[in-house]
Amino acid sequence: MTAAGGILTVDLGAVAANYALIRREAAGAEVAAVVKADAYGLGMRPVARRLAAEGCRTFFVADAREGASLRDELPEAVIYVLNGLFPGTAALYAKACLRPVLASMAELEEWRAAGAPLPAALHFDTGMNRLGMSEAEADALAQDPSLSAGVGVSLILSHLACSDEAGHPRNEVQLGRFQAILARLRPHFPEAQASLANSGGIFLGPGYHFDMVRPGVSLYGGNPFTGKPHPFRQAVTAQARVLAVREVAPGDSVGYGATWKAAGKARIAVLAAGYADGFFRSLSSGTSEGISGGRTGEKAGESGGRVYIGGGMAPVAGRVSMDMAMADVSHLPEGAVKRGDMAELIGPHISVDEVGLRAGTLGYEILTALGARYMRRYIEDGTQSAAANGGKA
Ligand SMILES: *Cc1c(COP(=O)(O)O)cnc(C)c1O
Repeated sequence: MTAAGGILTVDLGAVAANYALIRREAAGAEVAAVVKADAYGLGMRPVARRLAAEGCRTFFVADAREGASLRDELPEAVIYVLNGLFPGTAALYAKACLRPVLASMAELEEWRAAGAPLPAALHFDTGMNRLGMSEAEADALAQDPSLSAGVGVSLILSHLACSDEAGHPRNEVQLGRFQAILARLRPHFPEAQASLANSGGIFLGPGYHFDMVRPGVSLYGGNPFTGKPHPFRQAVTAQARVLAVREVAPGDSVGYGATWKAAGKARIAVLAAGYADGFFRSLSSGTSEGISGGRTGEKAGESGGRVYIGGGMAPVAGRVSMDMAMADVSHLPEGAVKRGDMAELIGPHISVDEVGLRAGTLGYEILTALGARYMRRYIEDGTQSAAANGGKA
C-alpha cells in the first residue's frame, strides 16, 4: 500500500445497501444489475459476485466479451448483452450462455439461424432513437410468428431517454408506447418479462417497474437524477499520495502553461493522480488571481476541481497533468499536509457527482474513467472506510 500512488477503495457493502434500497423501491419487480463497463469502473467481477450473494440473478453487460468474463465468475446467472448481437458471433454468445438484447430484425434472424431455441431479449425503441426495433416491427412480429420462431423471447425491453428528470414529458410518451408494444406482443410471448426502467426510471413510480428494473449508476452511488439529491450510498473512495509540498513565491506560476499564478506566497501540494487516473484535465484551474478571485485557499467556484487534504478542502492549482495534479494548500496550517499523506479525490467529502459537475460532466463518466493505475481494495461492509477518509493512510 505504501508503494501505491493512488488507492481506490470500493465499498461492496455500499453497493449491497444500494441494491437493497432499490429492491424496496421496486418491490414486486425483479431487480437486475447493470454491470457493463467493468461495473461502471468499480470492477465487474467483485461487484457481480457480491450482488449475486445479495440475491441478484440477472445481469446486463454491454458486449459479449464482458459477458464471457462474467460467465466465468457466475456460472448460474442470467446474462443479457445490451449492445445486441454482433454479426457472425451467435455461436460465441451461445457458448457462454449469453442472451443478446436483439435490436433489429437482422439480429433476430441471425439468432434464429443459430440453431436450437435460444433465449434472447427483444429491444424496442420508444423514443430514444438509439437502439431498438420500431413499433411497426412489433406489429410484424405479432402478425407473423414465423419471424421469431425458434427464439425463446425471455424479455421485452425499452430504455428511457429522460429518466433523470421526473417531470420530463418524454417519460410518459415512452411509457405509453412501451405499453402499446407489450399489449401487442405479450399474447405471443407469454413467458417474456418486461423491463423499462434504469436507475432514474425506478423513481418515476410503480407504473414504470413492470417485471424487471435495470439499475446501474445508483448501485454504485452515483446520482441518477439531475439537480436533485439522491438516497444512495457512495461506493468509491479515490485517494492520491502527496509527492511533495512546496512553497511558491508571489507571482510565480504552477504547472503546464503557467496558467495558475500565486497571488501571494503560496503552498502547493503535488499529488500522484492526473488525467490518466480519470482526474480530468477539465478539473484544472487557472490563476489564483482569476478563478478563485485572488484569495488562495478558497473554493475556486465550481469550475475547478478540489481535493480534501490535511483536514480541509483545497482547490486544484494549475493544469492537471497526466500523472500529477497540484492543490493549493496555502490556507491550511503549516505542516497539516506532508509528503506521503493521502488526498481524497472522491470520497466522503467530495462526491463523485460533485467531481463530475466540476469537470463539466457527470458522475457516470467520472466512475467509468477511474483508470487502471489505482491500487484497488475491496471492502465488504464499509466499516473500514474510516481508514479511507482522506486522512493519513
Ligand atoms: C446503461 C443502461 C442501464 C443502466 O442505466 P443507469 O442510468 O446507470 O441506471 C439500463 N438499461 C440500458 C439499456 C442501459 O444502456
